[in-house]
Amino acid sequence: MKNLFGLTPAQLAAELEPLPRFRAKQIAAHIYKHGAKDFSAMDDLPKALRVELAERYEIKPAELLSRLDSADGLTTKFLLGFDGAAVEIVLMRHDYGNSVCISSQVGCQMGCKFCASTLKGLERNLTAAEMLGEIFVAAEIFRGEGSKLDSVVVMGSGEPLMNFDALIAMLKLLHEDWCLGMSYRKVTVSTCGVVPAIKKLRDEKIPVTLSISLHAPDDKLRSALMPINSAFGLTSLLAAGDSFAEATGRRVTYEYILLGGVNDTEEHARRLAKILSGRLANVNLIPFNPVNERDFLPPTRNAVQKFFHFLNTHGIGATVRKEMGADVNAACGQLRAKFQR
Ligand code: SF4
Repeated sequence: MKNLFGLTPAQLAAELEPLPRFRAKQIAAHIYKHGAKDFSAMDDLPKALRVELAERYEIKPAELLSRLDSADGLTTKFLLGFDGAAVEIVLMRHDYGNSVCISSQVGCQMGCKFCASTLKGLERNLTAAEMLGEIFVAAEIFRGEGSKLDSVVVMGSGEPLMNFDALIAMLKLLHEDWCLGMSYRKVTVSTCGVVPAIKKLRDEKIPVTLSISLHAPDDKLRSALMPINSAFGLTSLLAAGDSFAEATGRRVTYEYILLGGVNDTEEHARRLAKILSGRLANVNLIPFNPVNERDFLPPTRNAVQKFFHFLNTHGIGATVRKEMGADVNAACGQLRAKFQR
């Protein structure tokens, strides 16, 4: 059965010919504005048409494979299926709004040493419709809670900028009035540092928040943790971040996973402050969440505090990511790895 989810109103009209175009618009509104997954709920369509559509088509944003809720109720993790492939999304209920972290690829080829998503390499890219499907699962859950989805973070498994065309297509769909009408400013795209693609994203003039995974303040350590650094070192990466900030007027967020005893000393903080000094940037510190498959240790609470304090007293705006959902393995790739095992 053909899945209508992800088709634009124009594509729906072409698919449903010779139905009049206004019918396609009505169906698009049901799918994207009201989250309909069942033609029988489309009560402004003639009954015979609803029956006919149900015989030929389905509306399926994603298949729900499993769900885990944190004990505090603030974090929910889903494993979603797309044509036999599985990816994770994480829903977070912050006091400033609801967000979802989505995946852009099944697996990942980038090989970051602290990450579980890359252990089996890249399986495949997700399509724009599949990424949109991840977002719609979250929107439906929040709607069911009498709330709404406020922001989207593309930071789950995969390197979004290695799936560039689908990413851009998804961002544009998400932004459309007939879809969720989400402001680009409510979307964060994370990258491990694919410099040419950061420039391409800048040239798209889509003012999302760019989040760059830095994780080390010098090339030697960064190359040891993240193979991408051997291709695009810190100088070119920071310059690409600056040019994105300049083009969009948006502050770049540098993500920094604190790995116990590896990159979390005051000397690392000093070097980080030095390379970010004067840039339109802020730092998000992420205390490492232990992954079974990886040997790194979490930082001590004291190391996190000292690192945070050093940056903030040396002119670099920093935050520490609030640990959410540790009891549901919220770090990226862990539910999927467990599912595969
Ligand atoms: S951290 Fe991101 S880019 Fe790096 S391997 Fe994991 S999913 Fe890929």
